[in-house]
Amino acid sequence: MRAALSAVLLALTLGAAVLAGAQAPAREPNELGRVMILEYHKIDVPEGRWTRTPDNFRRDLQRLWERGYRLVALNDYLDGKIALPAGLTPVILTFDDSSPGQFRYIPRGNDWVMDPECGLAILEAFAREHPGFGRAATFYVLPGASPPNRLFNQPDLATRKLQYLVSQGYEIGNHSLWHAELGRYPESVVREQLAGAQEWVQRHVPGYRFRTLALPLGSYPKELAWALSGEAKGMAYKHDAILMVAGGAAPSPYARTFNPHRLPRIQAVERDLDYWLTYFDRTPGERYVSDGDAATITVMSGSSGKLGAVRAARVVERR
Ligand SMILES: [Zn+2]
Repeated sequence: MRAALSAVLLALTLGAAVLAGAQAPAREPNELGRVMILEYHKIDVPEGRWTRTPDNFRRDLQRLWERGYRLVALNDYLDGKIALPAGLTPVILTFDDSSPGQFRYIPRGNDWVMDPECGLAILEAFAREHPGFGRAATFYVLPGASPPNRLFNQPDLATRKLQYLVSQGYEIGNHSLWHAELGRYPESVVREQLAGAQEWVQRHVPGYRFRTLALPLGSYPKELAWALSGEAKGMAYKHDAILMVAGGAAPSPYARTFNPHRLPRIQAVERDLDYWLTYFDRTPGERYVSDGDAATITVMSGSSGKLGAVRAARVVERR
């Protein structure tokens, strides 16, 4: 009994020492684990159902960092190209509705600089201060919405912003022209909404093509095919993935359950983030953990039957 207690105390002490040294605890690789695709709306004050304050957003990034999560681009996840060091977990950021606090410029001298309190600036500052965290996000913009949701609400700077996003490796995604609830409309309107959004973005970034669609209000059109590809008014569109507004953590891209036409997301509000971070702390076997080798997929013993159509060369089953 006494020996057992000592062992527990020793383990606690060691655990504290590890945490104090800011070393993430060792995690066994599990590349069939689940991945959080976080969904942000407004970055602004005050905190609300659809609003995360700048301070809380910064704190979210800190919590993710401390728990061994690293940013991965949505498109790299879709392609199964998750290149993280061993023991780390991918997390994906998405920002819906192009509201002003996500990406804002403020005047300085004769030019404009990014407002340090906007979402993008916070993300970039955090990435600079935490080498290895990564710097990736997908922005589901609304090119034809009414202010303040039309392309971050600074019309004269819209081109500069969209070009900045693309030049820095961020992704711009389709969220329809003006947040149309696609399930309510006939085929022609659905297609005009999806092609129209791309056409508007191409006025700012010539030739840019969306790869993914985030459904406004989570509403699927009556036929899935209308959302996947098509054209309207001479503009063709094609989406490799469709994101929902809820549903929890997403499957590993290597899992048999992975369905790019129904990708769930987690709304990045305090309660849901708490829930999922705690969930993965308590059930570490559910969490995607990288093996550090992009050419292999490491899975837990006995679970290779859960693999889907695997694109990587080699599967390693953990003993
Ligand atoms: Zn939206």
